[in-house]
Amino acid sequence: MMSTSEALAVQEVLQDSLSESSPKQRYHRLKVTAVIEETHDSKSVVFSIPEGAKEQFDYLPGQFLTLKVPYEGKQLTRCYSLASSPHVDAEHKVTIKRVDGGRISNWINDAVKAGDVIEVMAPAGLFHLTHKTPPGDIVLFGGGSGITPVFSILKSALETTDRKIKLVYANRDDQSVIFKEALKAIIAENIDRLEVVHVLDSVHGYLTQPLVGQLVERHLGGEYFICGPGPFMDTVESALLGLGEPKERIHTERFVSPPDPDQAEAAAEEAKAAAKGSTTTGFMVELDGEVHEIAYVKGDTLLQAMQKVDLDAPASCEEGMCGACMCMVESGEIQLALNEVLSETELEEGWTLACQCRPLSSDVKVKFPD
Ligand SMILES: Cc1cc2nc3c(=O)[nH]c(=O)nc-3n(C[C@H](O)[C@H](O)[C@H](O)COP(=O)(O)OP(=O)(O)OC[C@H]3O[C@@H](n4cnc5c(N)ncnc54)[C@H](O)[C@@H]3O)c2cc1C
Repeated sequence: MMSTSEALAVQEVLQDSLSESSPKQRYHRLKVTAVIEETHDSKSVVFSIPEGAKEQFDYLPGQFLTLKVPYEGKQLTRCYSLASSPHVDAEHKVTIKRVDGGRISNWINDAVKAGDVIEVMAPAGLFHLTHKTPPGDIVLFGGGSGITPVFSILKSALETTDRKIKLVYANRDDQSVIFKEALKAIIAENIDRLEVVHVLDSVHGYLTQPLVGQLVERHLGGEYFICGPGPFMDTVESALLGLGEPKERIHTERFVSPPDPDQAEAAAEEAKAAAKGSTTTGFMVELDGEVHEIAYVKGDTLLQAMQKVDLDAPASCEEGMCGACMCMVESGEIQLALNEVLSETELEEGWTLACQCRPLSSDVKVKFPD
């Protein structure tokens, strides 16, 4: 845990004057308007969005904010899902649960207070209610702090769809249940189409594949959103796939910390070194239905090469975390450096991240989704 003097030093940095955010900048200095104690080991942080950045901070239910925090001489970045719903809540609220030995989660729970200023990147992420709503029920699986994006999706789905919704919410014990009272109120108002099942380790043990099967029996053919500890997510995902539910309807969000800056730099250097032998001088990219031939200078990522010729490819964090620059490799050999967002399955399908990808062969073609 951070010492008091370290915490004060960080506070000093954060207390710097709140500057107006320019539309192009990646990190915005956001003021904390409230810190809410949710449970004994989690707190919510509410941000106010400066007038000039309102549009950039629009978000889809399930997306996350990225916070940049100075910590022991490093700039550490951490993602926190918005627990608020863009359709129901006026504020941008994230909820952070302490992680044993975790640096930033404990710092937030110990030190952050109303009036502080934190550097925050605009919302991003691929784990959200889709625009093209498929038919069928929505089944949400949240484990511990994994409730945050799922809670946002739940509130938005109730507000914007007439689909039936089931939430399976796993926690260590009753006192660890985040948003318990808010959930009770929402259930009372939506008794006809919302069902919430609490699974407590202390009472029921861990969720098992047969139990997942029973819980989804009446909702097969639905759409699934899963977020929580790794083993919990693996159990749910395997059970659903085993029941024949298609991958495209199973959405997952894994809560991990990105590598520290020195580790990230080392990974980028390693990727550059691996791409050293490449004699590639160009690659093809399909964006918005148009194919472009892009000149390539050794060492650059695909995104950097596109930015050099002012091709406006989608991108956000540029650190392999948010998935905004996700594109499909249609041909050629590539090298991917950091990846905190694509699953094994997505990699096998040929997805990559333009911000972390370097071409190894001269026939690389990537396509951005429409
Ligand atoms: C898309 C996304 C959304 C997320 N949303 C949420 C959310 O809504 N709520 C939430 O609570 N969390 C969320 N997370 C997780 C969050 O981003 C952090 O991973 C979490 O808070 C732990 O960060 P930390 O700095 O406290 O832990 P870290 O310091 O990253 O430590 C993590 C683990 O590594 C160990 N460790 C400690 N020091 C070091 C070190 N020097 N080097 C390596 N390992 C070390 C720790 O003991 C701990 O077990 C999300 C993650 C992602 C990717």
